[in-house]
Amino acid sequence: MSSSDSIDPARRGADATQTVVTLDLEGVLIPEVWIAVAERTGIDELRRTTRDEPNYDVLMRERLDAVNSNGLTIHDIQEVIAGLEPMDGAKVFLDELRSQTQVIILSDTFEQFATPFMKQLGWPTILCHELVIDSAGNITDYRLRQQDQKRRAVKALHGLNYRVVAAGDSYNDTTMLSEADHGFLFLAPENVQAEFPQFPALDTYADLLVDILAVL
Ligand SMILES: [Mg+2]
Repeated sequence: MSSSDSIDPARRGADATQTVVTLDLEGVLIPEVWIAVAERTGIDELRRTTRDEPNYDVLMRERLDAVNSNGLTIHDIQEVIAGLEPMDGAKVFLDELRSQTQVIILSDTFEQFATPFMKQLGWPTILCHELVIDSAGNITDYRLRQQDQKRRAVKALHGLNYRVVAAGDSYNDTTMLSEADHGFLFLAPENVQAEFPQFPALDTYADLLVDILAVL
């Protein structure tokens, strides 16, 4: 069964001929930011991910506690992030894709973390969340723009009469992939591939590009 067989055609806008591609950011175009910050700062508590702590709010509170108790400000973290690079081949892939169609990055990261990467990726459009930062640069809170924002963005694009092709690597992408007309897993861990066999799983930018272009 192809990924499109399970999609209700009524949801797509039968006359939609134009396509937008929505891409996850972390694990697809850039490394996992918190893991990278943990490695660069030596703060081991920051290595925990949604796989260790499925409650995102609990996880984020722990992360912010760890950041604050180690005296790190947003400027320290942005300095770490500025030293990181997109994954090998990510920029070339994204440039080629953006020359063929519109691309929007849908990420559960925060604007303050994403900005240094967006610069390196040529300022693509990104929809994500934001951190709350005080005048001294301390991260005091985080603000999710809305729940399940990736899926809702795809739904909104359907409302604008676009077809949507989506790619992501993890659990927080699967509602986006389901909502899209075509969904691809990219560099997804084996457990995610096993739980979501309806999405073709790809491991190279070359393959992802070919498969996306084939369904535009
Ligand atoms: Mg990801």
